[in-house]
Amino acid sequence: MAETPQGQGQETLSNLLQESRSFPPPADLAADANVQADAYDAASADRLRFWEEQARRLQWEQPWSNVLEWNPPFAKWFTGGKLNAAVNCVDRHVDAGRGDRVAFYWEGEPGDTRAITYADLKDMVCQAANALTELGVNKGDRVAVYMPMIPETVVAMLACARIGAVHMVVFGGFSVDALGTRLDDSEAKLVITADGGYRRGKPSSLKPAVDDAVRDRPAVENVLVVRRTGQEVEWNEGRDVWWHDIVDRQPTEHDAEAHDAEHPLYIMYTSGTTAKPKGILHTTGGYLTQVAYTHWAVFDLKPESDVFWTAADIGWVTGHSYIVYGPLANGATSVMYEGTPDTPHKARFWEIVQKYGVTLAYMAPTAIRTFMKWGEEYPAQYDLSSLRVLGSVGEPINPEAYMWYRTHIGGNRTPIVDTWWQTETGAIMVTPMPGITHGKPGAAMHPIPGVVVDVVDESGESVPNGHGGLIVVREPWPAMLRGIWGDPERYKKTYWSRFEGLYFPGDGAKRDEDGDLWLLGRVDDVMLVSGHNISTTEVESALVAHNKVAEAAVTGASDPVTGQAIVAFVILRSEAGDGGADMIKELRDHVGAHLGPIAKPRQILVVPELPKTRSGKIMRRLLKDVAENRELGDVSTLTDAQSIETLKEAFQESGKSDE
Ligand code: ATP
Ligand code: MG
Repeated sequence: MAETPQGQGQETLSNLLQESRSFPPPADLAADANVQADAYDAASADRLRFWEEQARRLQWEQPWSNVLEWNPPFAKWFTGGKLNAAVNCVDRHVDAGRGDRVAFYWEGEPGDTRAITYADLKDMVCQAANALTELGVNKGDRVAVYMPMIPETVVAMLACARIGAVHMVVFGGFSVDALGTRLDDSEAKLVITADGGYRRGKPSSLKPAVDDAVRDRPAVENVLVVRRTGQEVEWNEGRDVWWHDIVDRQPTEHDAEAHDAEHPLYIMYTSGTTAKPKGILHTTGGYLTQVAYTHWAVFDLKPESDVFWTAADIGWVTGHSYIVYGPLANGATSVMYEGTPDTPHKARFWEIVQKYGVTLAYMAPTAIRTFMKWGEEYPAQYDLSSLRVLGSVGEPINPEAYMWYRTHIGGNRTPIVDTWWQTETGAIMVTPMPGITHGKPGAAMHPIPGVVVDVVDESGESVPNGHGGLIVVREPWPAMLRGIWGDPERYKKTYWSRFEGLYFPGDGAKRDEDGDLWLLGRVDDVMLVSGHNISTTEVESALVAHNKVAEAAVTGASDPVTGQAIVAFVILRSEAGDGGADMIKELRDHVGAHLGPIAKPRQILVVPELPKTRSGKIMRRLLKDVAENRELGDVSTLTDAQSIETLKEAFQESGKSDE
């Protein structure tokens, strides 16, 4: 887990970046916003009552008797209550007469489309639930889902939830090994997969990886296969079952049992930086309460008129909470897109926004910075005037990326909600509210109503305004992880041992002069330069603020003089050329001018690509290995393992001529 560089640091985390831009909510949005300022008052007056009110958005077969049982660090929410997540996401909307509303406008990468109404979804989920039962899947069994971004993936998850089986989605880009270790740890008895999916203009296979992973794992009894691409697949008679053979012949009726509020809903593995992946466990009632509330509140969702789009993969927690459970619990209409943003052209996302009239869009800063790099001419080709709220998730959004997003996607009109949360938190924790919060580029602003977040120093004391430290959560929240699958000790040690009674997410943060929150990246990545703890985020944001830089990643490399020195890797915008010595000097001076001389990088290397995880996050740990000329650590979760080798060579080359 996160280790803060100890020692001479004068403060936990320096506060270097100043930002004076601020955008009030648009008047019409503010007037009609789902959340008004009184929500914060109500929640701070009586937090548990506030969450009880939010839980009433759901349909409970049996009401809870106890809102929270808190035996630190183990929480149970809404105990005694019973509900069915699939019924909440699907059936009740149909029962309320909204069966004709579209749940998903699905867009395949090759351009094939499907519009799936809530009534369609109900039939599909019931059939799949019946099929799972026929395959011998029982309540409490684990089911692995290793799928492309197709509607059957959502159906598979909901069918599990319906019968009380625990789904464990593994991102379709992960390797055989990653799938295998997750199958072992969760002891899944069924794997649901597809022949393949479309990525970058061609079919990309999935079934062979499942075959390899399952070969020596007899615990997996069946492999259920959706036909998507029509690729040749090896068939293991007796084990493999085509989805269309077993699901399509099932009745579209299924009696759903109500499950306990604390019944496990899913396991989602976080990659884990060093040791074996952590199976983060989420349960039913509290999780669904907070994802439904935040989806409605943070995006100001009007389910009758909005078209919502989370442009992320379902194999990531963002997809679980804001493609599947939040939007469906709220009866929203969503877009789901199978492929990559540059297929068949670099404006595919914007074409989709125009085509479906997307009003609320949610994506990662890494995508936004990629669009910045490609240039504003791509979004400019499409009508994006339907958009009214834009969201960001996954990493700190650099102020310049925020400005670009707001200007070129949001038409200078839409609020941006920068939402901080984690797999472990299950749902959004810190964010502006679009109808009430003034947006500051780069700031996640405030904890949501009912969530108590603080920034503390090494000794666990709150830091004053204008100071940096570590973000913590002071009180249990409904969607919090209930543990690490099969390992309660690791749960305690990882999240609850740093500070007595406080949840420690492992991220740095600061509170600015106004008391607003800024996330500053992982504590493990903080650089200790001449006694100052400097966050990677602030230096990266300063670099991205230069008009020739599209993306930047920095890391601290050991240095005989300063302890650690800042090494930066930058990707230039397409119009910027390839960056000679003058440009490097200009960038170093620019950072110095922005943040002070202490933050000036020792070295800057212009690169074509940065090492990223499959969910698009920069792997600074590998850049540190490069900057310190070490053997590269674990590269198994990288999208492109070759790119880091190339980068390493370039770095070693540059060292020969530098300074
Ligand atoms: P792993 O835990 O497996 O190493 P991960 O932490 O990247 O992976 P996630 O749970 O998907 O996996 O990501 C949560 C982390 O992402 C947060 O702890 C934080 O570091 C970062 N993050 C997410 N959203 C934001 C945001 N809006 N601002 C700043 N950082 C964010
Ligand atoms: Mg994490």
